[in-house]
Amino acid sequence: MNTTFSIDSMENGIVIDHIGAGKGIRIYNLLHLDELDCPVVLVRNARSIRYGRKDIIKVAGDIQLDLDLLGYVDHNITVCTIKEGKVIEKKKLTLPKRLVNVIRCRNPRCICTVEEGIDHVFELTNHNTYRCIYCESKSKM
Ligand SMILES: [Zn+2]
Repeated sequence: MNTTFSIDSMENGIVIDHIGAGKGIRIYNLLHLDELDCPVVLVRNARSIRYGRKDIIKVAGDIQLDLDLLGYVDHNITVCTIKEGKVIEKKKLTLPKRLVNVIRCRNPRCICTVEEGIDHVFELTNHNTYRCIYCESKSKM
C-alpha cells in the first residue's frame, strides 16, 4: 500500500497560493489549520516569478476558508480549489470592505471592548487601513 502523501498530485483540496513570504505561518495559525485531520502542507519561501519569494499552503481536504480573513492578511493571495486533480476554481482576493470579528479593537475604552457580545467591526478606509466603526481606532496590520 502506498501511504506516501504527495501534495503535488493532490486530488481534492485547496491551495492558498501567492502568500507573501513569511506570512504563511500566520495564516496557518489564524485559520487554525493545526486542528485539521487532513494533510496540510506549508511551503515557505517558494520561488515566485511575480514576487520573488512566496509561501504556499496546501490542504488536502474540503474546508471552508474565511476569505475575508485571508484578504485582510494578504490580498495578493490566490485560492485554488482542486477537484479530481484539476483546478476547478481560482479566486483572487481583495481587501474586504468590512471585517466582522476578524480583528479586535485594542482601544480599552471602546464599546466593543467594554461590553460583551458586541461584534468587532472594522471598515476599510481610502488609505487601505481599517478603522473600528465605533471608536475609529486604526487596526494594526
Ligand atoms: Zn473600537
